[in-house]
Amino acid sequence: LAVGTALLERARAVDASFQGRAGVLSAGYGPGDAYPVFVRRASGAHVEDVDGNRYLDFLQGFGSVVLGHADPQVSGAVTAALADGIAPSLHLESQVTLAERLVRTVPGAEMAAFLKTGSDATSLAVRLCRAYRKRDLVLRWGYHGWHDWCAPRPAGIPAEVRARTAVFTYNDAEGLVARLQRDGDAVACVIMMPVEIDPPEPGFLEAVRAACDHHGIPLVFDEVRTGFRLALGGAQSHFGIAADLVCLSKAMANGHAISAVAGRRAIMQGMADVSASSVFFRGADGFAAAHATLDRLEGGAPYRRLWSLGQALSDGLARAASEAKVPARPAGLPVMPFLRFDHGDPALDQAAMRTFCKAMLKRGVLLHPAHHWFTCLAMTEEDIAGAVAAARDAFAEVASACVA
Ligand code: PMP
Repeated sequence: LAVGTALLERARAVDASFQGRAGVLSAGYGPGDAYPVFVRRASGAHVEDVDGNRYLDFLQGFGSVVLGHADPQVSGAVTAALADGIAPSLHLESQVTLAERLVRTVPGAEMAAFLKTGSDATSLAVRLCRAYRKRDLVLRWGYHGWHDWCAPRPAGIPAEVRARTAVFTYNDAEGLVARLQRDGDAVACVIMMPVEIDPPEPGFLEAVRAACDHHGIPLVFDEVRTGFRLALGGAQSHFGIAADLVCLSKAMANGHAISAVAGRRAIMQGMADVSASSVFFRGADGFAAAHATLDRLEGGAPYRRLWSLGQALSDGLARAASEAKVPARPAGLPVMPFLRFDHGDPALDQAAMRTFCKAMLKRGVLLHPAHHWFTCLAMTEEDIAGAVAAARDAFAEVASACVA
């Protein structure tokens, strides 16, 4: 990875986002792990790094890509929109038609508002709920972005701000009910990822919904990752649970920057009172990309395919692990698949995951050791079969390197 390594050195000197880390993949890797950081191009199911290595990409822009990279229809729609001016001072009809489309498509959505990033959307949803309920405390679960109310790292954030948000435990309905019994009158909203890796236990989401209803608290689903990924109606339709607001981004526009908050009119009308604006919220490219992406996701077939590709990967990984006698099992929903090692020793499991991902990388499969993966519609059955074949060899490496 000679070209990439030299580029990383230059980046560290002038690009502050590389301070203390080696890029988006660094979180799951230790010192000395040779991992590609820079990409030259991405197309369909594959990415090519700056050293010319090609990988089957299971990161898919961290879930922002669902059709495949550089989808010609989406790129064509964006290019056409650019020709008419990307920032045309006033509002575009495509903004209104996209709001109409979300109201038709997203369960419970009576109105929508558009922003650019996932953090924008979750922060707006929380602000709308705080304004609506005239309360400050937010109960949350999952990753919601980098803004003050929810950033994973505390540095630079006033303690008073952090104290207005509390994290609850996923799949612990009793804990949440008890917390709401104590503090329900102070809570502005419950905001959560409906699922990350481990699926909700039967009755958990229903219990969250019931507890929110009991205390008159809006329930916000952070569907930045699950929206248009699990189903056209997102986690709400997949799990059959209605939220009051949903946050959408990522798969909505196949990698282009746009996000949305959608939901109940009574809460959304608070847009009249809160601050939520950016010159870029009106940009033509996001609306064009979202329309072109949603055109392709309609009808059940795209979702049947996303799920069956993921199922084939998960089944193949399970078979390959058992053949290699490695204690590993697929985890997560097949559209957001992942793998967990189970040696009964967390340090060994982490080492095994790194060994496995590096062995896959050598065989042209890009995985993240600490973030679940994604399927996309540009993947083929042959791609998945190739990844499973690579996994057979990778598990053999794990079996000899990681002995309990
Ligand atoms: N919510 C969820 C569930 C996410 O996965 C992410 C991004 N990983 C965000 C919010 C924040 O989105 P962004 O990075 O676009 O600000």
